[in-house]
Amino acid sequence: MSLIVVGSMAFDAIETPFGKSDKIIGGAATYIAWSASNFTKPIKQLSVVGGDFPQSELDALKLRGVEMEGVQIKKDEKSFFWSGRYHMDMNTRDTLETQLNVLANFSPVVPESYQDCEFLMLGNLAPAVQLSVIDQLKSRPKLIVMDTMNFWMEIALDDLKKVLARIDVLMVNDSEARELSNEYSLVKAAKKIMAMGPQYLIIKKGEHGALLFNEDQVFFAPALPLEDVFDPTGAGDTFAGGFIGHIAKTKDISFENMKTAIIIGSAMASFCVEKFGTERLKEITKEEIDVRLQQFQDLVNFDIELG
Ligand code: AMP
Repeated sequence: MSLIVVGSMAFDAIETPFGKSDKIIGGAATYIAWSASNFTKPIKQLSVVGGDFPQSELDALKLRGVEMEGVQIKKDEKSFFWSGRYHMDMNTRDTLETQLNVLANFSPVVPESYQDCEFLMLGNLAPAVQLSVIDQLKSRPKLIVMDTMNFWMEIALDDLKKVLARIDVLMVNDSEARELSNEYSLVKAAKKIMAMGPQYLIIKKGEHGALLFNEDQVFFAPALPLEDVFDPTGAGDTFAGGFIGHIAKTKDISFENMKTAIIIGSAMASFCVEKFGTERLKEITKEEIDVRLQQFQDLVNFDIELG
């Protein structure tokens, strides 16, 4: 009984108005695994890297209970590379370069030992690859969550729609929700997107928190107001890791439990942005997570007398 995490494992180069990183470790599945491993074990990773990806990074994840049988290492090829530049608001960014490298011909093979999975987290990756993972699973997981981005909406919309029809929860940011639905109002956008397949939709709004939609219900999780945001890269994936990690830990897929899961996702994302890359995620402790969750509770708890 476990969680499969699918997604990129990559090198990133990041520019913010306050600094610039060299080539550092990134990738959607990397962030998701680091984040989710605080809540559930084992995590079964499904990805591909080139011969240039440090073995020490894979080993560090293994020590956190992340299994690597489904991670292909293509010795003679290069890992996926992405570079981005953040605007002054640190909420929006431009992609400077996407080198698919090993991702260009990635054909995932789900190992037999992954077949017992109860939860499937489809991190950002080509929709056709996400679909192939769903197709390879002999029994449908209890919950399939998918993250995607504008890049795939622009080059693989038909495939993306096929995946949408097969999943339970979609996570996108506000501009992606607008792009996918052609609606400016996020409430209208949510209705249109849920009609494409997913029963649940999470719209991430960076420093303005996240919305969880299901039928006519909506719930809001704030982001923690932070004095400094150092590097927002991976915040969305870290959010996804906290969300699915909590769901896999509790095995409860109700809307009520998803509310808690998006608060946990937001708490995890608030750590991610405090340092470059995965640096902060690698050092956080259970105690720090508990303190932060308490801060979230204090942030939104209030009394009101009606009538
Ligand atoms: P986030 O900031 O949560 O949206 O995710 C950033 C991560 O997504 C980076 O570490 C990148 O390596 C990865 N990434 C960026 N573009 C893509 C893409 N087209 N496919 C897969 N992963 C990507």
